Amino acid sequence: MQKTESQHDIQALLKEHCIGATPERIAVAELLLEKPVHTTPLELHAIIKERFHSITLDAVYLILAEFEKNGLLKTCQIDGKTVFDSNLREHHHAACRQCGKILDLPPLEMPDIPEPLKGWRINTTLRVWHGICPDCLDIE
Ligand SMILES: [Zn+2]
Ligand SMILES: [Zn+2]
Repeated sequence: MQKTESQHDIQALLKEHCIGATPERIAVAELLLEKPVHTTPLELHAIIKERFHSITLDAVYLILAEFEKNGLLKTCQIDGKTVFDSNLREHHHAACRQCGKILDLPPLEMPDIPEPLKGWRINTTLRVWHGICPDCLDIE
């Protein structure tokens, strides 16, 4: 029952964003839009392939690009990878160098503008904190 309900919401959401609700797109939307997640096309492909055996990486990439274009996802660059992010609010990230886990961090107060940027109008100062997460530190 619960599942039908959420599939219904997803279909409505896709329609609202002018995206046709194919089974593949619904599956991607369920994985990414029900809670905030970060994914690369490669990671998502590995998961979605279990349900849609013949889906190609290109097809996954196209679905993600379409979702981004229609305002359902944002992309950010983390460690040189393009990561699709379903948290659409402005936020910072922390990335673990070891396991690749990515955390969302709330925006901090605007830092003091560095001297060379005086006179600029700054729009964002979004940043990525790099390090090693506690789980990985435990293993070391
Ligand atoms: Zn880690
Ligand atoms: Zn994020």
